[in-house]
Amino acid sequence: MTTSQPPETPITPTALFTLALGLQPPWTVTEIALQLDQNELHLTLDFPRGSRWACPQCARPDCPVHDTETRQWRHLNFFQYACYLQARQPRVQCPDCGVKTVAVPWARPGMGFTLLFEAFALTLMQQMPVRAASEVLGEWDTRLWRVLEHYVQAARDERSLATVTAVGMDETAARRGHHYVTLFVDTAQAAVVFATPGKDATTVERFAEDLAAHGGDPAAVAEVTMDMSPAFIKGVTEQFPGAEITFDKFHVMKLVGEAVDSVRRQEQKDRPELKGTRYLWLRNPETLRANSAAQLATLRAANLKTARAYAIKETLKAFWDQPVEEAEAFFRRWYVWATHSRLEPIRQAAKTIKAHWAGVLHYVVTRKTNAVLEGINSLVQAAKARARGYRNIHHFITMIYLLAGKLSLPQLNLA
Ligand SMILES: [Zn+2]
Repeated sequence: MTTSQPPETPITPTALFTLALGLQPPWTVTEIALQLDQNELHLTLDFPRGSRWACPQCARPDCPVHDTETRQWRHLNFFQYACYLQARQPRVQCPDCGVKTVAVPWARPGMGFTLLFEAFALTLMQQMPVRAASEVLGEWDTRLWRVLEHYVQAARDERSLATVTAVGMDETAARRGHHYVTLFVDTAQAAVVFATPGKDATTVERFAEDLAAHGGDPAAVAEVTMDMSPAFIKGVTEQFPGAEITFDKFHVMKLVGEAVDSVRRQEQKDRPELKGTRYLWLRNPETLRANSAAQLATLRAANLKTARAYAIKETLKAFWDQPVEEAEAFFRRWYVWATHSRLEPIRQAAKTIKAHWAGVLHYVVTRKTNAVLEGINSLVQAAKARARGYRNIHHFITMIYLLAGKLSLPQLNLA
């Protein structure tokens, strides 16, 4: 015989569950109750009479048990059965510290879930809305949000922001028309490192504080990419005086696009063919379907103010690809055209860009965009969908960190 013999004594069910739960002495499984009618498995964990414990406060060994409190924890399902652990949680009598509750190794203090159940819940919540996870698990979503908030907060507490030197920032609406959240992205990591309610200058102040609290240095922030919001400019100028501001190309083009749409809305009172054509003028022409492209070509050939505004906008697109030495001259020509167009919204947009000239030109020098932020934006939209139906803005922020924060969260390792 070359194969080893099977063990003489078969393993008992309680010993099997003790092993499977990874319990260490003095804890063992002492009772197993399968409640078929409830679809529940209840495991009782206990320790032998006379067991002594280390004091949870001073670590003094061999403290006697003062009393116990029976508690229950939800654990990972056992097949189709919801599994609960039940145990007498001991309180010890320490000669130095008094009566202290001993922590159990399978759960965080005060929680009704085991660590493994929490890891599984976190895994689900990264894949589906919290409400859906709560249905899968048969637990209240409020309890799952608490688990999520704890782990996201803990992971954020541990994260170092010491290497952050280039930041992209942008606001996003938490709900239609109300309540904004401003996001700060470390462009090197392509991760949201801070999210805070509001879209005013104090958001930048809170970010600078958070950065410093996580080992970062506001003076080391050399680049900030953002839109032309006066509040953001004020905040960044105050909090990051060493930073060069780049106004994001995407936001500059959006400003001019909105000017084109203002021209269109005024003009459509006299030119009904412009009704319902908003997106034709705003979309990238290369992405239009054939019939839309044909409609746009017809409108452009008609004598329309909107068509002139559109041509001015489309021409500005070429600015971003200009070599550094030609960018300024290119913009000057464009600016003369725009300001002499007799199209007031276009004139205003051109003036706004000129007023932010240094930061706009800086793009051509650094070629920085909020492209990273645009990628993150799709994750933020997913976060919004996941947090939908919850009025709490902190749920939205927690979800942003979960999906776009690149945090290191506990994983259920099934591999
Ligand atoms: Zn003690």
